This record gives sequence, structure tokens and C-alpha cells, in this order.
Amino acid sequence: MAFSLHRPYQNHPPRTHKLISEVTDPQTSQPSEALRAWFLGPHAENGDLLERLVTEALRDHIFWRRNYHPEDGITIRETERRKPGYEDAVSTLTQELMGLLAELKRGVPFFSARYKAHMLSEQTIAAQVGYFATMLYNPNNVSIEASPVTSRIELEVAEQLARMIGYNPETSWGHLTSGGTVANFEALWIARNVFYFPLAAAGAIRDLQVDLPVTLPSGDVARLDSLSLQELLNIRTSDALDLWHALWNSAPRHAVARALDDHSLSTVGYQDYGRRLALDYGDPLPASVVLVAATAHYSWEKITRALGIGSNQIVHIPVDSNFRLDTTALWQQIESLTRRRVPIMACITVCGTTEESAVDQLDDIIAVRDRAESELGVTFHIHSDACYGGYAASVTWNADGTRRTAAEIRADVGGEWPTDNWVRAMLALPRADSVTIDPHKLGYIPYPAGAFLLKERRARELVAVTPPYLEPTAGLDSAQDLFLGRFIFEGSKPGAAAAAVWLSHKVLPLDVRGYGYLIQRTVAGAYQLHEALRVAQLEPFRIILLPQPDINIVCYLLHHASLTTLSEVNALNEAIYAHMSMGRPGATPEYIISRTRFQSPMYDVAIGPTLRELDVCSEEQWRAAGMEGLVVLRSTIMDPHLATPGPTADHISGFTSALRRACEAAYAEVSDPIQSGNR
Ligand SMILES: *Cc1c(COP(=O)(O)O)cnc(C)c1O
Repeated sequence: MAFSLHRPYQNHPPRTHKLISEVTDPQTSQPSEALRAWFLGPHAENGDLLERLVTEALRDHIFWRRNYHPEDGITIRETERRKPGYEDAVSTLTQELMGLLAELKRGVPFFSARYKAHMLSEQTIAAQVGYFATMLYNPNNVSIEASPVTSRIELEVAEQLARMIGYNPETSWGHLTSGGTVANFEALWIARNVFYFPLAAAGAIRDLQVDLPVTLPSGDVARLDSLSLQELLNIRTSDALDLWHALWNSAPRHAVARALDDHSLSTVGYQDYGRRLALDYGDPLPASVVLVAATAHYSWEKITRALGIGSNQIVHIPVDSNFRLDTTALWQQIESLTRRRVPIMACITVCGTTEESAVDQLDDIIAVRDRAESELGVTFHIHSDACYGGYAASVTWNADGTRRTAAEIRADVGGEWPTDNWVRAMLALPRADSVTIDPHKLGYIPYPAGAFLLKERRARELVAVTPPYLEPTAGLDSAQDLFLGRFIFEGSKPGAAAAAVWLSHKVLPLDVRGYGYLIQRTVAGAYQLHEALRVAQLEPFRIILLPQPDINIVCYLLHHASLTTLSEVNALNEAIYAHMSMGRPGATPEYIISRTRFQSPMYDVAIGPTLRELDVCSEEQWRAAGMEGLVVLRSTIMDPHLATPGPTADHISGFTSALRRACEAAYAEVSDPIQSGNR
């Protein structure tokens, strides 16, 4: 490639508004046709397209540099590029790159229809090109100074995601993170600070010698100074934030800041905080708990540990046989905790569980909290961990911004999915206090890209820090918005990730024309696979299917009549997994799956029907087996082409035949100790 031409020097005027307004409506009138253009393709069918766009982005960047103060002259001169040292450096680079490229091919073929394992797949071409193009500029979205373009893009992307889940973009707030773990961390970080804030305010008003009104969950208004510890820890988020503003207006700012620092958990730390509560209130309450769906991601354990809450304060709420949080059990737990005077900080629900893609019935969960507020005077933050399933909300949107009914979606997908309850759960997302979504999962975006969304933008003030190099700006003006670093946990972060999400959302809108269509196709594929497994002739093996998924993860396990114990069944399924994964050195599996282990007590209720169908042990025996649990095989279907096979391979019947062969090989191993000794 030669770059002899200089483009005319363009001095871009600084942009003050949103940059994106000039973009026209996406041309996706025929999503079934557009789908073929969205990805590089399992055999790189769109290789020429990707190459053209990457080349365009690279050349454009090169022109930018060539034309940036050309009067500065040439730093790396042609004669210097012929020196032996230069040549050596180039040959090392080229040689080592070749080595790296060779190594990379030993990676996992996520793009292939043969990969049916974890929540990993293709990335959209838009995301790949958006990332690549922006990476050349390497903006840092920690602050607007280091990312004049991509900080704005990030806020715009967060606003798109907020709209998709139904938040009001005027009053909500969001941003990107490196992933779901950090996004979830921020959710509980903010929830914790809002939860303890009224307590800090009660301490602060004593120092400031003022008193303020505060609204209780019952709707009654009381004087802050008159509240008990239990009442202080049961103030609704919006009422706590009203109190926050009232407090800042009750005295000079520096005095309020000092009083808050003296009484806030964030500044004091748990150790001293607990000691002071004992002194001030005499009879401090038991430690506050976090209610967590039994199916929740293991990041919650890390997060409660890191925030000083302690993972012992996690109370798991059982899930039903569809792996959805059991709302009756939730209510009973809230009643029981309240009887024991245990405060509840938050309830973590899941929209698309990592193992099963189950969608908790969020509308019912919110109704339980409404009831707790009115009957028990108890309230807590509700978080929806939609890291996996969040993008599925796109199927509920028409292009014109109206919602689709469950029946309309079912007619479009051509099956029983989604249920009316599923749509109700999705429509309840805007009532969750916070929601996290991973664009690097069902958004088909390269890592790292998670997102944190907060219903009440004001709540971010409770985690804000003002670094010395940022101008203090009062209020909620947009200049302050662009210094993301003030409100987020991470520091430096890639503007390229924001650009990747942004460009992908442009090509695949967050409605039935884009992501909605894409995800519908993956669900259709998952349902076809579920049905094919149900009718598959696998004798002498028997397949035990878990229920039809809420999104696109199919779970199953295999049984053989000669197996009589849980550990034998687990050994068979482990061996099948070994044949259908890249775990063994030199493995060349026909298809790739993943596996998980359902353990007691988290899966005690959910596992019932599966254990009865398996019929090798009682529920008591399963409970006694504890960590051994039940090995379950798992196929995430992110391949949008599975449900509409082309003229070539049919990867549904191909998969069931491969599964049969893996069963036979695995059974031979587990029933023959000599051979299994070779493993
Ligand atoms: C993947 C996942 C997470 C964690 O996300 P990372 O991006 O891996 O940090 C959290 N919750 C759920 C439900 C997930 O599926």
C-alpha cells in the first residue's frame, strides 16, 4: 500500500453537541437479508467486506497523521528505514507476528456452528471495524480531555441501552465498563451507599444542628432525627436522594461535606462504622444482607467480599424448576429476616442466568417489594443482572418505538416463545433500580464491554470522588457528565470499546430490525435443538432435558440404564463433555459444548423434576452429595443461522449424531477402568 497522496488539510472544528445526529435511519428493512452482512461469517464469506472497511479505517488514520501539522517535517526518514538496525527490528516483528498468528489458530472457533458451548460467538463486523478504527486513535474514556469523541459516544451508547430497557434517559444514567463483574460491582456499591446514607444524614444533622423531613416507605413523613436505626435503613432510594439534596441545602457546602465525611460508611469504613453504631444506638442491628437469586453469577460473591459486606451476608433465594427466582420464597425470606430485625440492602435478580438463560419474573419481584413496603415498612434496592439477557429486551420493540406484544413476537418467531410472562418480566426492567448488560455477550461486541445502568441518575453522587485535576462543577450539567472518571470505579478505559458498541447499534438497531431479529433467530435455533434432542434416538442412552430455555441456552444430561448412582451418571456426562470440548490436548471435537454442576442447596428446588426423571438417587441423597452435585451439559446457541440451515451442513442433526458418538465413546471409558485410566 502506498500513501503518496495527501488529503487536503482539514482542521476539524471542536464539536460541542452530540456528534451522531447526522446519521440516517438504518437501512434494515429486511433483517433476514441484512443478517448475512452483519458478520464475517463462519467461513469468512464476508472477508472482502471486512478487509475493505479495515483498510479504509487504516488509510484514513494514516492520512490524518500525514496531514497533522505537515510543516513539522519527517521524523523517520527513508534513508533511516534502510539501516541494518531498522531492518532487524522489522524482521523480528514480522517473524514474531507469524509465530503469534500460528499460535492463535489453536484458539477456540467461536464463529463456527460447531461451537455450542459458552456465551461466546462472532462479533459484528460493525463492532470489529469500530473497535479497530478507534484503537488507532487510542482514546481513554476516563475523561473528556483524553477522549473528546468517544466519551460522548459512550454516553450515547449508554442512553441507547437505557432506552432499550425502558429507562427514562432524562433521569437515568449509564456508562460502559470492562464487563459485567465491574458493572455489578458498581450496582451494589451505589446501592450500599444509598442504603447507609440516611444513617449518615442522621449523624450529619446532629453535627449541623438542623433537622429534615424524610418520607418513610408507608408514605408518612417523619423528622429525620426521630427515626430508629431500623427505619433509617428502610428509606426508598428516591426518598433517600431527596434527603441528600435537602441536606446539601441545609447548611454551607463545606460544612455539609465535612459532616458527611464524618458519618459515611465510604469514608469511615465498616470497622469503625460498626463500632460507632454500637455506641450511638446501643442496640445495633444484625449485619445487613443481600438477597441473591440462587442462580446468580459468582461475581456477587466477589463483590460482597470486595465491598466489605462479606459473602456470609448473601442470602440465597431458591429458584423454581424453570430456574427463575421463587417469589413466594422471596416473600417468606423477607418476612423472616424482618422478624429477626435483619436489614435488607438489596435483592439481586437475574435476566438471563449464566447457566440456563432463565429470566426472573421481575414484575412479581417488584410486587413483593411493594408489599414489603406497605405491610412491613421494609424496602431495598432491586438490581437486575441482565448481563447475559439484557439485549433480549430488543425483541419487545418495533422500529417506530412502540412495544410488541407477546403474541406478535410469537407469530414472528413461529413458536411458543416468548410467554406472556416473559414479556411482562422484560417490561418491568425500567422499575429495577439498576440494570447491568454485557454488550460483549448478546451484543456480539469484542471484549471488553459491559454496561451499568442506574434508574436514578442522582444516586451516582453517592459514589462520586473529585480528583484534583478536575474542575469542580456544581449541579448536573453535561460538562460534568463527560468526566466519567468521577463516578465510575474504573480509571483508564478504551474509547474503542464504546465506538464498537456504537457502530454496532447503528447497523443493528435495538429493536426488531436489528438485535431483536438476531436474538429471535438464536432462540428459534435453541428451541429447534431442544426439540431435536427430545426426539433423538440415542438408545441405549437416555437424554434428560431441562425445560425449554427463557432465551437460548439448552441444558441436558445423558443417562444409561446400567448406571445406578449419581457419581456414575456424573462420570458419564463428564466423559461426554471431555469428548465434546477442547480440554484434552490435541482434541478435535466434532462439536463443542460446555458443562456446569448444579449443587445443593442452591438448586434444591429446581433439581426435583430432573432427579425424578433420572431416578438414581433421592433428593436427600442429592443434598447429602453437596459439592458433587449434578453435572449438566450446556449449549449456548448464539448462532443465528442454526434455525435456518443452508444447503450445506445441518448442524442440528449433525449435533445429535455427534452426541451419540460421544456417548458411546464416553460410556466405553467409564465402564472400562483400564481404558479410562488412559484419560
Ligand atoms: C457473564 C455474567 C456476569 C459477569 O460478566 P463478566 O463480563 O464476565 O464480568 C455477571 N452476571 C451474569 C448473569 C453473567 O452472565
